[in-house]
Amino acid sequence: MTARILEGKVFAQAFREDAQKKAAALQEKYGVQPGLAVIIVGSNPASQVYVRNKHKSCEALGIYSEVIEMPETTTKDELIAKIDALNADVKIHGILVQLPLPEQIAAHESEILERIRPEKDVDGFHPVNVGRLVTGEPGLVPCTPFGCLRMLELAGIPIDGQRAVVIGRSNIVGKPAALLLTANNATVTLCHSKTRDLKAKCAAADIIVAAIGKAGFVTADMVKEGAVVIDVGINRNAEGKLCGDVDFAAAEQKASFITPVPGGVGLMT
Ligand code: NDP
Repeated sequence: MTARILEGKVFAQAFREDAQKKAAALQEKYGVQPGLAVIIVGSNPASQVYVRNKHKSCEALGIYSEVIEMPETTTKDELIAKIDALNADVKIHGILVQLPLPEQIAAHESEILERIRPEKDVDGFHPVNVGRLVTGEPGLVPCTPFGCLRMLELAGIPIDGQRAVVIGRSNIVGKPAALLLTANNATVTLCHSKTRDLKAKCAAADIIVAAIGKAGFVTADMVKEGAVVIDVGINRNAEGKLCGDVDFAAAEQKASFITPVPGGVGLMT
């Protein structure tokens, strides 16, 4: 079997159109333009690119966008004061603090992120939103796992009753991916660096979500014939080329659907 490729740009386009329609409907019905504020502290080059892209996307979708650039030397209190101001700002409905934070405030990351009002916490990192995800109540969900689930849904891939293995248990990807799959009636095994018999667990899975951060970690023998493989990883291989957590060339021969890297999950989120 050769897998169908789940191309991120196709899904990204669908999400954009959906967001644009929703923004226009809010404006038309209630006279409200949705607003997103992104705070970037310091000058991390990758973060600057992400923030610029978010700003451009918002503008294209009819979403009001504010980018707040704060110096590398910003203190925790200064950042919290800015978050408080945005919490109170009626033009702003979503607040993102771009991570990673500079060294002097990185240790306070949780306290900083928890300062964002849960209803404006578009990253879905606030404990209230995490709790809602656990209990199955509506809330804001981290974008990468949310996008992975929407990708499965839009591609018409059944989740209900399927055996899913998620490799990686980070708060940003692995854990929320496992919770979302559970909420959609998959039977989920959440694996990590201490998991025994990982290969066998993967080889029995109908759906594999790889979020590890190790190039080519998921090999062909870990992929069941006809399985769906979602590769969240973003790595550089020995030649310095961008690649995922899955040995794509080999897994593609066995999977029914697979996301490439680059061009898969990353493009969509
Ligand atoms: P983390 O480093 O936070 O988590 C990695 C997870 O992988 C951990 O749970 C770790 O286990 C597990 N792991 C590490 N080694 C092994 C192993 N040998 N066997 C099994 N599990 C292992 O990473 P993130 O979740 O933040 O990111 C994962 C990948 O996804 C990265 O490549 C990142 O760049 C990418 N990413 C992509 C995004 C996108 O939009 N496409 C967004 C976010 C991340 P343990 O907990 O035991 O240490």
